[in-house]
Amino acid sequence: MAELKLSESRDLTRIERIGAHSHIRGLGLDSALEPRAVSEGMVGQTAARKAAGVILQMIKDGKIAGRAVLLAGQPGTGKTAIAMGMAKSLGLETPFAMISGSEIFSLEMSKTEALMQAFRKAIGVRIKEETEIIEGEVVEVQIDRPAVAGAASKTGKLTLKTTEMETVYDLGAKMIEALGKEKVQSGDVIAIDKASGKITKLGRSFSRSRDYDAMGRRTQGFLALFTGDTGEIRAEVREQIDTKVAEWREEGKADIVPGVLFIDEVHMLDIECFSFLNRALENEMAPILVVATNRGITTIRGTNYKSPHGIPLDLLDRLLIITTQPYTKDEIRKIVDIRCQEEEVETSEEAKALLTHIGVETSLRYAINLITAASLACQRRKGKLVESEDITRVYNLFLDVKRSTQYLMEYQNQYMF
Ligand code: ATP
Repeated sequence: MAELKLSESRDLTRIERIGAHSHIRGLGLDSALEPRAVSEGMVGQTAARKAAGVILQMIKDGKIAGRAVLLAGQPGTGKTAIAMGMAKSLGLETPFAMISGSEIFSLEMSKTEALMQAFRKAIGVRIKEETEIIEGEVVEVQIDRPAVAGAASKTGKLTLKTTEMETVYDLGAKMIEALGKEKVQSGDVIAIDKASGKITKLGRSFSRSRDYDAMGRRTQGFLALFTGDTGEIRAEVREQIDTKVAEWREEGKADIVPGVLFIDEVHMLDIECFSFLNRALENEMAPILVVATNRGITTIRGTNYKSPHGIPLDLLDRLLIITTQPYTKDEIRKIVDIRCQEEEVETSEEAKALLTHIGVETSLRYAINLITAASLACQRRKGKLVESEDITRVYNLFLDVKRSTQYLMEYQNQYMF
């Protein structure tokens, strides 16, 4: 359940990535889990969407714990879009965490710690409503003791504010005793059993992600996760939290809600990370792991062995594999249409046809990126409608990968290697 403090740069990449998929509102399936041609922002890729829908059903039926899904396909074939669609279809209650394979190599913490935190971020603990537990972050603790010494410490008044609600308790000596023992300070995350007044310290300050999941959706009612002040979370803190949650589960006060952890560019992980994943999936609280890669047979990082997708065979063996296929021209045209609408960029039919052509010849991602740039070019010439000339202008300004490679080859003597 515990959580991480993401560095700002990571938050930024997440915002950027979500921006590119903001038009995806689900998997676009009907009630029989059949994909509609164009629905909820999704176009084509019907076999993959259907397979993802079956997995969703398994998740909802609680039948997928400990398993994992691999989305395999060429760049820009909608792997991230499908993972996003799955998360959106799961609804508000399911925690969703997303990282990219390369993100876990940071100086702030070890790679397995980063993975562990991502895992825990994708597990929610639902505190059952009928219990009298209140949880929140302590913003301020005040103990007003009567001036007279002696009996004073037994009759003090406690004011405690939480982030969500301003709660004033005047529970008397019991509470203060509990407080004294727990040494609660501002910034602590605590749970209070209202009946007994017992305070349990859960960790230090929740990050924003306690209330919002990766999609910016509210996840209230969840005690998803705890952060260390910076970087690594001490193992003892984690154990304390686990023990507490296990206790609550036994007492029927809380449920564990496994969410979805999406790891993009999974081939960037190395052998140590893969063995961590294998072990983590055995945990009964494990979230559903969805990984994606655009690599074929390649070396498993940290070894001299090659394997499909750069994933060791033992892990590969437990993956349900969904492949994505390249888009047809018609599908690219529809996605271009949707993105123009989503970005509120009025675009002429001719310009859209050109974008589609560029999408076919280069990549869908590149064509989509040109929409924003072309709209700026259009504004500069004080136009109302993005025309082919705007597309051509930005096409010449920004190289796609193919042209960039060609350029590098032509001018390689002038670069440092
Ligand atoms: P990579 O392998 O490079 O990470 P990817 O397979 O994850 O690529 P996406 O990032 O999902 O590809 O797709 C590129 C862009 O096209 C995104 O903006 C995505 O939202 C959009 N897109 C992809 N597939 C679809 C689809 N089937 N319907 C609507 N939009 C899509």
